[in-house]
Amino acid sequence: MSQWDIVVVGAGHNSLLTAAYAAKAGFKVLVLEGAPRIGGDTSCEELTLPGFIHDPCSTAHNLIQSNPLMRNNELRLDQYGLRYLYPDPVFTMPFQDGRSITMWRDLDRTCAELARFSPEDAEAYRELLNDWQAMAPIVNDERENPPQPPQEIAARTAGSKLGLRMLEIRQSTALDIITQRFREQHVRAFFAWIAFMTLHPLDEPETGLLAFSLVAGRQRFSWILPEGGSIRLPLALAAIIEASGGTILTSKSVTRIVVEGGRATGVETADGSTYAASRAVVSSIHIAQLPGIVGEENLTPQFRAGIDRWKPSLSMFAAHYALSEAPRFRTEDGSMESVTMGGLESLGSLHRMLTGYRAGCLDLEDPVFLAITPTVIDATRAPAGKHTFKLISFLPYQLAEGPEHWDQVKDQVADRLFEALAPLTTNLSERIVLGRNVNSPLDMERRNPANWRGSCHGGASTPDQSGYFRPVEGWSTYRTPVEGLYQTGACTHPGGSVSGLPGRNCAAVLLQDLGSSLPARRPTRAAL
Ligand SMILES: Cc1cc2nc3c(=O)[nH]c(=O)nc-3n(C[C@H](O)[C@H](O)[C@H](O)COP(=O)(O)OP(=O)(O)OC[C@H]3O[C@@H](n4cnc5c(N)ncnc54)[C@H](O)[C@@H]3O)c2cc1C
Repeated sequence: MSQWDIVVVGAGHNSLLTAAYAAKAGFKVLVLEGAPRIGGDTSCEELTLPGFIHDPCSTAHNLIQSNPLMRNNELRLDQYGLRYLYPDPVFTMPFQDGRSITMWRDLDRTCAELARFSPEDAEAYRELLNDWQAMAPIVNDERENPPQPPQEIAARTAGSKLGLRMLEIRQSTALDIITQRFREQHVRAFFAWIAFMTLHPLDEPETGLLAFSLVAGRQRFSWILPEGGSIRLPLALAAIIEASGGTILTSKSVTRIVVEGGRATGVETADGSTYAASRAVVSSIHIAQLPGIVGEENLTPQFRAGIDRWKPSLSMFAAHYALSEAPRFRTEDGSMESVTMGGLESLGSLHRMLTGYRAGCLDLEDPVFLAITPTVIDATRAPAGKHTFKLISFLPYQLAEGPEHWDQVKDQVADRLFEALAPLTTNLSERIVLGRNVNSPLDMERRNPANWRGSCHGGASTPDQSGYFRPVEGWSTYRTPVEGLYQTGACTHPGGSVSGLPGRNCAAVLLQDLGSSLPARRPTRAAL
């Protein structure tokens, strides 16, 4: 049996981040990844044709930009091959009536787009960004630390610059905020689409901050993506771990966390190998799968009951294309290429999508889109002059006929989405398609066990699964009922997306318990 200080299960960006901080702090770290490659939902594959580097899951690395990891360049990831690109336009949103709204990196230019619909709404956008400036320090501080109890959060919120207004915003639905602040229907659709990009249903309570945070992050950092593909972040983290004496093994699915005397002492993998951990085991196993791997008897009844209630987050459907030219989107200023395009006709279309989703129906009459062509800014991802294109829609894993039905319908669903998008472009047609690869929500789960029930953000971020309650009330500190076993990843605070915050927060707690700490602050960039 090989011997390590810390064994980390899973090599998604969060657990790699925990491992990197621990390795840099001097611990002997082993990372075991079940898949043949590292990265989890931040990976790259030649899904269509040789030379076409696709991001099967995430592309945008926005939320990680306000993580102290990046803000203070704590691990110097830029020295390990990680370079970010900032598209301009940030994204464009064409509508079926020929109108369009484009977000530009220049705020005045974005406001000019909004003013074409309503000068009042353009002013309301500036006000929204100002309000976010007043709220961001509080929200970022919450996200960058283990969560506080709800009464503490409420007291800090009420004491913010916006005072009770911020409390009201927190408790509202994002749709209420958008309809209160913006009048014109295209403008409302524009703000609803961007607020929806972390896949929380915007009609649910306590989603109000999403109407601010996502749009402000995009306005500031653009639709930021790593040069070379999403995998560049895990690759940089892996290089740091290895440079600090750590080891990463792939095709090592962990089937058992060994618990002796109430303490996690190592793991077993599917091939029968065992790995001992003298100080800690860090898991990024999906929380719903944890009891089967650590042993139900080692968890408290309250912890198990919390996991039994766990609800998945919304799921995505993604069709990947190799194209001979980039899609050109119809805008009021002519057709244009854009790394990112949003498709939402109206707030009614969002309601329709959420209603269909909740009923397990495939309603494709008026789909909501996210279309990404990274090669518009990053030529390294495809052969010269060619493009990678990802067409995403938000469709249920749990179909009325059962999730397996996806295998029968996914190609037709991809055809229908492509046909629905084509009229919003001047050139999207079979003529420019060189190859295609379709991933249903069921395929996402097959690709990565952490995408449990198609959940691409660990689990829903409803109030009962957020903050102090994520993953289970009383256990939001990244510790678990098993001594020496820590949990990170999208199922922990502050949830899914490429934020790196579950990974860094977990590292802070782990290192503190081991008598060490995160690196001292070395500021390089102003806080958001
Ligand atoms: C289609 C899609 C598009 C997305 N787009 C974006 C986007 O543009 N921007 C964004 O911010 N977010 C996006 N997301 C969400 C985001 O990618 C994820 O929330 C995030 O990457 C999760 O990171 P993680 O480190 O917590 O876990 P993961 O990346 O899921 O990694 C977990 C790892 O653990 C491994 N593992 C699990 N169980 C075991 C085991 N028993 N033994 C060994 N290994 C195990 C898995 O194989 C996996 O590699 C998208 C997700 C999807 C599916």
